[in-house]
Amino acid sequence: MHSTLQETLLSTIRSITDYPKPGIVFRDITTLLGNARAFRRSVDELVHPYAGSKIDHVTGIEARGFILGGAMAHQLSAGFIPIRKKGKLPHDTVSIAYSLEYGIDEMEMHKDALKPGERVILVDDLIATGGTAVGAVKLLRQMGADVVAACFVIDLPELGGRRKLEALDVTVRTLVEFEGH
Ligand code: AMP
Repeated sequence: MHSTLQETLLSTIRSITDYPKPGIVFRDITTLLGNARAFRRSVDELVHPYAGSKIDHVTGIEARGFILGGAMAHQLSAGFIPIRKKGKLPHDTVSIAYSLEYGIDEMEMHKDALKPGERVILVDDLIATGGTAVGAVKLLRQMGADVVAACFVIDLPELGGRRKLEALDVTVRTLVEFEGH
């Protein structure tokens, strides 16, 4: 019997309660990534709508977005662009401040990473409040990118991130939802 992608995801994503602090359930995708079939099927499903359309770059958010994004870029014959935390990229950067649960942080990409009008897909493992992804979309648009979609393995719908991205006219794709935080 073949399991559905939903079943595969639900059985391979590990949930760790009270990590990194009390009240949070951390959705750990290392167990999904370590399962050859689950990893392959997740990447296949994320890229599926874009097979055959021209995508210039996949942009991944540090750090788990790099793993998914590298695999997606390979499959789409696209380039990969890392979006990193402040101070990690060696060349000239553009940066944007974004909101975290407590306070703000900054993310950056290389100034010469893409050209205006290029078609990009953004990816991260999970969307929660959407603060990180909204920051990344704004950064990409500031560079002139055409953000074709934002993709996540996991959505925490109660935290409303998806709606924030959709309010910015971004197409959002997620593979599985979990209740709560
Ligand atoms: P947010 O900006 O609130 O949408 O948070 C998304 C970012 O924080 C992503 O890079 C996620 O990897 C990480 N994150 C937030 N909540 C969780 C969670 N419950 N489990 C795992 N990662 C999370």
